[in-house]
Amino acid sequence: MKFFGFKGGVHPPENKIQTENQAVEILIAPKMIFIPLLQHIGVPLTPCVEIGERVLKGQMIANSEAFLSVPVHASVSGIVKKIENLPFPLMGNVQTIVIENDEQDEWIDLEKFPKWESLTKDELLKVIRAKGVVGLGGAAFPTHVKLNPPADVKIETLLLNGAECEPYLNSDNRVMIEEPLKIVEGIKIIKHILNVNRAIIGIEDNKPEAIKAMKEACQGTNIEVMSLKTMYPQGGEKALIKAILNKEVPSGKLPSAVGVVVNNTTTAAAIYDAVVNGLPLIDKVVTVSGKAVEEPKNLKVAIGSPISALLQNCRYKEDEVEKIVMGGPMMGMAQLTLEVPVIKGTSGVLALTKQEINYCKPKSCIGCGKCIDACPMSLEPVMYARLAEFSQWEEMAKYHLMDCIECGSCAYICPANRPLTEAIKIGKAKLRTMKK
Ligand code: SF4
Ligand code: SF4
Repeated sequence: MKFFGFKGGVHPPENKIQTENQAVEILIAPKMIFIPLLQHIGVPLTPCVEIGERVLKGQMIANSEAFLSVPVHASVSGIVKKIENLPFPLMGNVQTIVIENDEQDEWIDLEKFPKWESLTKDELLKVIRAKGVVGLGGAAFPTHVKLNPPADVKIETLLLNGAECEPYLNSDNRVMIEEPLKIVEGIKIIKHILNVNRAIIGIEDNKPEAIKAMKEACQGTNIEVMSLKTMYPQGGEKALIKAILNKEVPSGKLPSAVGVVVNNTTTAAAIYDAVVNGLPLIDKVVTVSGKAVEEPKNLKVAIGSPISALLQNCRYKEDEVEKIVMGGPMMGMAQLTLEVPVIKGTSGVLALTKQEINYCKPKSCIGCGKCIDACPMSLEPVMYARLAEFSQWEEMAKYHLMDCIECGSCAYICPANRPLTEAIKIGKAKLRTMKK
């Protein structure tokens, strides 16, 4: 298969070597678990348990009737101690169910569908929703919605995103190496739901072991594995579609506009677990890395575990840390407290030292155009910084600000350290407020 590549992109230091060969370790669930009621793109959930109630592992504890929502489940058995607004890793505070782990590890009865081929598309989507599956590549978009494109849209190709292009992170990489058959079976379920024949797994060429494992697991199937030249942000849906299929998704449109659905490889494994093993999405593989941890690792953790538990397990050096990031260094969110919990979309927790962070002061733009060349969405990031300085939010929209995927490539490449990402984030927030 021909590799087409995508426009722009950058190649930041990979920093994957610290954890790429670390097999996934299970972190014992901590005493207190914090489950926020907004872990997906969509509306917040309503609790269906009460303070003082005992919950079992895997039990649904909050849900919503809204279309763009999925329930959350208890990741331990124990007692609901509080339901209140608590720090959330993506923004401010969010209503959170706090469970005291009774360490009994007592599960609810799980409804399993090992013969899933006999289920209809709608039945499978219902199971996937009920088990709380969302896209695990970071965006946390409800999977049952993504796998249900409008009836008039014909999906021809399913792309599996195994790029994991963010520096430091190896969570998808390790799942591909350690559980490739689960991913393949999950892909078969997705193909069945979408009624597509063609499925391609794209993996960057800095993950040779994952490429080998997935190729072996795909033998005897018609699922293809494609090695992609490493380049950030190849894991962005539109970049991946361009790199593998040479198709351009039009501005403001979804991949289905060009007959494609993209799912993350780890999401495929979660779909398999949900359908065949009856398991709700209650744990996640997270890479813990950065120079301020002595033992970088890939940990399988209960969703709701505070990141302090992960950092302690990896021998966190508090006196050396400059910044804690949830996610990768390019798109992740800086954290103000170690008590924020791991949520469904968490792939990494980084404890970074001063040496690992670029703190150069911004200078005047020199008009070099490097930010434009690096933008995978063919935008003009230089204009965003200029317009944000003068609060020209509507002008920013004319420069297709909402197409920006916030990959940070422009800011990374800018020799003048212009605050491009900040301008973009502020501009988008202002435009959203103006729309209301
Ligand atoms: S403008 Fe947006 S999409 Fe383009 S490089 Fe910058 S952050 Fe990425
Ligand atoms: S890369 Fe930086 S200095 Fe160069 S044009 Fe863009 S904003 Fe200006």
